[in-house]
Amino acid sequence: MEGMAVRLQGLRKTFGETVAVDGVDLAVRDGEFFSMLGPSGSGKTTVLRLIAGFETPTEGRIELAGQDVTRLAPFERDVHTVFQDYALFPHMTVEQNVAYALKIRKVPKTERLRQARAALARVRLEGYGTRRPAQLSGGQRQRVALARALVGRPRVLLLDEPLGALDAQLREQMQLELKALQREVGITFVFVTHDQQEALAMSDRIAVFRQGRLEQVGTPAEIYERPATSFVASFVGTSNLLRGEAARRILGEDGVHSVRPEKIRVLHESAADEPGQVTATGTVAEVVYLGDATRFLVDLDAGGRLTALQQNLTTSAEDVAAFRGARVRLAWHRRHTVQVPDAR
Ligand code: ATP
Repeated sequence: MEGMAVRLQGLRKTFGETVAVDGVDLAVRDGEFFSMLGPSGSGKTTVLRLIAGFETPTEGRIELAGQDVTRLAPFERDVHTVFQDYALFPHMTVEQNVAYALKIRKVPKTERLRQARAALARVRLEGYGTRRPAQLSGGQRQRVALARALVGRPRVLLLDEPLGALDAQLREQMQLELKALQREVGITFVFVTHDQQEALAMSDRIAVFRQGRLEQVGTPAEIYERPATSFVASFVGTSNLLRGEAARRILGEDGVHSVRPEKIRVLHESAADEPGQVTATGTVAEVVYLGDATRFLVDLDAGGRLTALQQNLTTSAEDVAAFRGARVRLAWHRRHTVQVPDAR
């Protein structure tokens, strides 16, 4: 298939009795930042290892740039893997670490050094070339691992939770940097994460995994605004589902419906209904002041519970406490309610 960096067909992998990957069909486009998202044990790392060639599929086919690589060894595939622990050589300098792949390919020394320095500059580590990994911070080691990956100009870069070892603030910064870097170099990234916020922030498209299968593949907006299953609705973003009696009374419909917390306004119980709006009355069970926003947990009179997230435009922390136990009316646009098929 044209323009596809990676293509998986009927991919299946078992380890003894465990079915790690259970029939996955997937195509990653050239130059795409593609994330595989799912809870622990859902099979995303195994899919990554299958693409890299560290595992052999039980069934199915793997193509890289249109070529069948299912039976090829890792070094015969035009991919590079960045692991969470970075796997840097501790006894080598930063420059030597980055140049290593070029040395293996017998690139002459001056050219190796030139390319290694260029790659280090790309990840903003000029001047660090003679240090050893132990003399770097976690974020800097992460950058060295990236420089080492980029220097070989692989067609596809496979990244397994590369930001997992970083603290929250550095992680957010690296998310932006990594995304910018990917745009600059134009290499296809296949990125494994269990962090939905990270996947939403960085990806062109996301594949959501559950128990070795794909639940949904789509852009961050599609995954978030139009979850295809109740699992996706709950795993990506705050689970906010109306079902059964509550769905019938509030929406006049059967089935399971998802509405995102930030779409819901918290109003006085006596507020008037507006055309096109869904409203539901209830009692505030809990309020959480988050600084920039406030989260309300509301027990609905129709049954069930919804979370509403309000920006703190004029609200202060003191106002927030007064809401606990208060009677409120929740309101949102009907078009923000998405019906989702129930769990399989
Ligand atoms: P995590 O986020 O925790 O890394 P994951 O979604 O990447 O999880 P995998 O590591 O792909 O999940 O594992 C999928 C399933 O396959 C799990 O049940 C796991 O225990 C099993 N598994 C993975 N590798 C092996 C192995 N080498 N031997 C036996 N079972 C394995």
